Amino acid sequence: IPVPNLISFAEALEVGYSKYKNPYHNLIHAADVTQTVHYIMIHTGIMHWLTELEILAMIFAAAVHDYEHTGTTNNFHIQTRSDVAILYNDRSVLENHHVSAAYRLMQEEEMNILANLTKDDWRELRSLVIEMVLSTDMSGHFQQIKTMRHTLQQTEGVDKAKAMSLILHAADISHPAKSWELHYRWTMALMEEFFRQGDKEAALGLQFSPLCDRKSTLVAQSQIGFIDFIVEPTFSLLTDSMEKIVMPLIEEASKSESPAFGTHSQNSLGAVSNPEAQRRPTFKSTSDGGTHTENSLATVDLTSFKDNLMKIIQANKERWKELAVEEELVKNVGEQEKDQSRNSTDAQLQEETTRIQNESSQGSDGTTCPPRSIVLQVVSFDTSLSDESNSEKCTNSDPNQKDLTDAQQETQNTDPLNGEPKHCKKTEDLVKATEQKEALIQN
Ligand code: 5GP
Ligand code: MN
Repeated sequence: IPVPNLISFAEALEVGYSKYKNPYHNLIHAADVTQTVHYIMIHTGIMHWLTELEILAMIFAAAVHDYEHTGTTNNFHIQTRSDVAILYNDRSVLENHHVSAAYRLMQEEEMNILANLTKDDWRELRSLVIEMVLSTDMSGHFQQIKTMRHTLQQTEGVDKAKAMSLILHAADISHPAKSWELHYRWTMALMEEFFRQGDKEAALGLQFSPLCDRKSTLVAQSQIGFIDFIVEPTFSLLTDSMEKIVMPLIEEASKSESPAFGTHSQNSLGAVSNPEAQRRPTFKSTSDGGTHTENSLATVDLTSFKDNLMKIIQANKERWKELAVEEELVKNVGEQEKDQSRNSTDAQLQEETTRIQNESSQGSDGTTCPPRSIVLQVVSFDTSLSDESNSEKCTNSDPNQKDLTDAQQETQNTDPLNGEPKHCKKTEDLVKATEQKEALIQN
């Protein structure tokens, strides 16, 4: 990649990501998802399964995946009959635009970072990038999960494009698997973006989309649902998939010691640059100008990767549960009291935001935040698929799931009293208690 081209392209990306001044879908989200994809490739060892071209496709797809995001959802584009909705016939409107507009940038010679690829490589990369970015459309989430779960049960190998799409999709919704301080801030940024859409909807005389009414959205409760139905199953599938792919590579590499423990030429990700060796698992990576970075198969610890993720997700869910109690109280008080409570809630929310801002500059000390309420939730979706997927999750007997953390196993166990899976019961109660009609995701 010619460096001046890379700089021009990256600068143009930044401009595009800043175009609509979005609180959430901005250049930091792009950088965050790109870094997370990089992290997943290294820490699961999946980079040893991918070729250099595929690694490039992953990083590139992550960097462009929300390019020129308008800060409004696909549904908003469709309802308002926007130019892009008309252009893309209401199908994955934003996602189509992200890829198309990013490729359009590279039509300019000075921004063409792919100028030195062969025709075949260029085509292969483009095909992977299109598939991966389109798979970030949340309306395809449940189908994607279902297809991949099915693939894991088969004896054949896993489809590369599907595995790579799952990695990008997981990275895209990974903030609930990060520290509370980060997760809370990303959540508030996303909610503010939704609320701004709600303001636009109100101004246009349209109905509020789910999660878009700043006066009634229950943030904490919606986040519990998002984690339960979307984030946990996605990361559980991600780790199962990585295990199925990487474990045989580790075995192979530890048997044939030469490539496994050798120190042949590798790129900065630790992938071998020798084309012949590109598909060979490697155990050892190079040192980088004195700093030795071990990105080898020998250091891959999938169990820690999984346990760590699940622990953080659970901890974040617990924090939302504390906050949801307050939220529920506020919702149940009378109209006048409700207004008063909301004022104090706003004050508490402000307090939490300030606390987190202070903490993140000093480093977190793990103290519990004061409970506060926020607003209501709900997420519309493809309910036929969502129902199926939820019931699948509730009755899951997939042997790939047996390594989940204790906390997860507990929630997935069957209740001995009524034979109903505890997890489903809990979720059902939550849904009832919050009088919510639909589950998850706003898109
Ligand atoms: P993206 O638009 O970033 O490519 O796709 C990710 C989508 O996942 C977001 O647009 C948003 O709809 C959903 N999402 C990500 N994080 C959260 C979250 O914390 N809560 C909810 N309800 N949805 C989220
Ligand atoms: Mn995204």
